Amino acid sequence: MLINNYHTHTKRCGHATGEDREYVAFALKNHMKTLGFSCHVSHTDFTLNQQYLSDIQKLKNEYQDQIQILIAFECEYVDDMIPYYQNLIQTKQVDYLIFGNHYTEFAGKMYNFCLSYKDITYFDIYYNALKKALDSHLFRYICHPDVFLKGYQKWDEHTIQFTHRIGRLLSQYDCYVELSGSGCRGHAYFNYEGKLVPPYPFKEFFKILKQYPLKFILGADAHAPEQLNDSAIAYIENMAKELELNVVQEIQFDERS
Ligand SMILES: [Zn+2]
Ligand SMILES: [Zn+2]
Repeated sequence: MLINNYHTHTKRCGHATGEDREYVAFALKNHMKTLGFSCHVSHTDFTLNQQYLSDIQKLKNEYQDQIQILIAFECEYVDDMIPYYQNLIQTKQVDYLIFGNHYTEFAGKMYNFCLSYKDITYFDIYYNALKKALDSHLFRYICHPDVFLKGYQKWDEHTIQFTHRIGRLLSQYDCYVELSGSGCRGHAYFNYEGKLVPPYPFKEFFKILKQYPLKFILGADAHAPEQLNDSAIAYIENMAKELELNVVQEIQFDERS
C-alpha cells in the first residue's frame, strides 16, 4: 500500500477510467497522505491541459484538510515542448513534472519504445531522450526507466549493457527512479528463463541499477482509482523489498526552490 503516490492518471488521456473524485475517494478510503495527479500532457490541445490544471486545483483546495493533492504532468521528451514545461514550473501551475520516456522524435522519425522492435539503435535514441530530459532539470521523477523492455521484449547482453549505461547516467542527477505498477497490468509479457514476466518493472534491470547510488520510488501509475492499491502495487513493493532497494517514501518537490 502506497501512502504517497505521485503517478496518477485521469480519464483525460483517453486510456484511463474513473472520475477525478473517485481517485480522491479511493485514496481517502485507503488513508493515503499524498495523491499526485500526473496525467499525460497533451502536445496539441493546450486548452485540455489548462482545464485539467484548473480542475485538479479545485480538488486540491476542496480536500486540503483531508489529503495532500498535488498537480503534475507526465511528459515525454519533445524539444518544442520544453518552453511550455518551463513555464508550467516557473508560474507554479504544477507542483512537479515527471518524465515518462514512451516515445520521441529523432532526425524526423518517431520512435515508440513501447511497440515491438528488435533494432538496438532504439537504445541510443531512448538514452538520448532520457539524457536531454535530465539535462533540462525539469524532471526529478523518472518513470519506469525500463519501459524500453516493453518494445524490445527480451533480456540479453545488449539490455544488460544498456542498463549499466542508464544506471551510470541516472546516478549523475538528483532524481528519483520509479518502479512503476503499470507494466504488470498490461498483457505485454515476455519470456524470461521459461517464465512469462511483465516487461517492467524488470527484476534483473533493477538488480543492476542497485549497483549505482540511486534513490528509488514506487509509483502506482494508476489509470483507474482501484489501481492505487491493487496487485501491481504488491508486485512492485515485493520487488523493492526483495532487492533491498533504497526506496524513498516521500518526496518534497519544492525543497530546492
Ligand atoms: Zn498512460
Ligand atoms: Zn504514467
